[in-house]
Amino acid sequence: CGVFGVSGVADAANFVALGLHALQHRGQEAGGIVAYHPDHGFTSARRFGYVRDNFTKQSLMETLPGALAIGHVRYSTAGSKGTSQIRDVQPFFGEFSMGGAAIAHNGNIVNADALRRELIGAGSIFQSASDSECIIHLMARSLQRRVPERMQDALRRVEGAFSIVAMTRTKLIGVRDPLGVRPLVLGRLGDGYALASETCALDICGAEFLREIEPGEMVVIEDGEIASHRPFAPRKPRFCIFEHVYFSRPDSILGGRSVYETRRDIGVELAREAPVDADLVCPVPDSGTPAAIGFSQESGIPYGMGIIRNQYMGRTFIEPTEQIRNMGVRLKLNVNRALIRGKRVVLVDDSVVRGTTSIKIREMILDAGAKEVHFRIASPPTAWPCFYGVDTPEREKLLAASMSEDEMCQHLGVDSLRFISLDGLYRAVGEADGRDAKSPQYCDACFSGDYPVTPSDRIEQGFQM
Ligand code: 5GP
Ligand code: SF4
Ligand code: MG
Repeated sequence: CGVFGVSGVADAANFVALGLHALQHRGQEAGGIVAYHPDHGFTSARRFGYVRDNFTKQSLMETLPGALAIGHVRYSTAGSKGTSQIRDVQPFFGEFSMGGAAIAHNGNIVNADALRRELIGAGSIFQSASDSECIIHLMARSLQRRVPERMQDALRRVEGAFSIVAMTRTKLIGVRDPLGVRPLVLGRLGDGYALASETCALDICGAEFLREIEPGEMVVIEDGEIASHRPFAPRKPRFCIFEHVYFSRPDSILGGRSVYETRRDIGVELAREAPVDADLVCPVPDSGTPAAIGFSQESGIPYGMGIIRNQYMGRTFIEPTEQIRNMGVRLKLNVNRALIRGKRVVLVDDSVVRGTTSIKIREMILDAGAKEVHFRIASPPTAWPCFYGVDTPEREKLLAASMSEDEMCQHLGVDSLRFISLDGLYRAVGEADGRDAKSPQYCDACFSGDYPVTPSDRIEQGFQM
């Protein structure tokens, strides 16, 4: 998911809409905005679909007045599966003794089922199926008076990943879990401030990037002043390494590094670790593109756009009939035959999850007359599900959970298949000595199975670590 908030700027909701549009890659299912104006109180709008199709209508934006607003773009993850309802769309709102508050959450709470049982037992009335709603109910039960302290109480009981943007009538609040699994940044916007999942959302509204919210930090912005708090016991941060590989936009800055440059460096590492004799390097667009550029630069093999992506196809295309579903990736990707014919092709993609994309692409490339197909993957084999806010299928459906690299190569029917090593990935994100096995610098659980926060709800359901 993506979160964005603005304070101290007229028509804040319009900036939130812009920011959410820049964060659309983090969630395409639905979006919501809450705003506050002293004369109109809290107002909100929640819609399914793209930001550009909803939050560009003047008639809707006029209902969200004020100089303080937050928003959320949603994609459903492990904690919030099932049929999606508008009541699951954030921001969530709660009314407390000292006034209301709205919150927008990116991440996933791994003890949400246990918290929900406890809260319902104590009289809470849940409105949604979302793990994030626990936070509002925990806040309501806090004995503190002010919202930031209520939030601190609530979040000390929450386990898992959270980057949160929240607001009261006067305050804009940003907070990251102690491991800092999901990103959150602070920017200066005119005379006010903005909080965003990624820097690309600051760029779109002309805000200046100031700094990241630190893991375990809470910032409270009021009357143009920023106060920083440390509500949690300090821990060594474990930022999600997959944000660097796939989830974030390449024009964002993460941990002081350009995501584009990191991905290009992953391609460079891949070319060193797994060289191959070939005539052409092609990305699987768009996610494989920077790594393919790096692979080409390092190997000296020419780069070409051997696969063209239809720009009008979203990530969440609903495939209405079996016949169309079977066409699969053809709806989104097509082979550039003139370029491919007769060549030994290296295809660079960001990840192999179920392997269905890779099989279809191999078929298309060979149909177009390629002599050989070599896959190079910009992440290690995805062998474990993510419980911290990225949507991966259950373990049984992950190709790498049951097959070795050679078996995957056979299964995909390609001439060779290589993944970047975990150490190579760490080098590419800027850790010169690779992964510190005793105390890893990142969360890499989907590759290593080393979960930095025990996924307790899942273990209760039978998941084995
Ligand atoms: P597969 O067909 O192997 O299951 O999927 C691999 C493809 O899915 C990759 O090309 C990658 O770009 C994309 N992908 C990787 N992670 C995610 C994710 O978390 N969500 C979505 N929607 N796609 C992903
Ligand atoms: Fe990121 Fe993977 Fe960790 Fe999930 S399990 S937070 S995708 S590194
Ligand atoms: Mg892809």
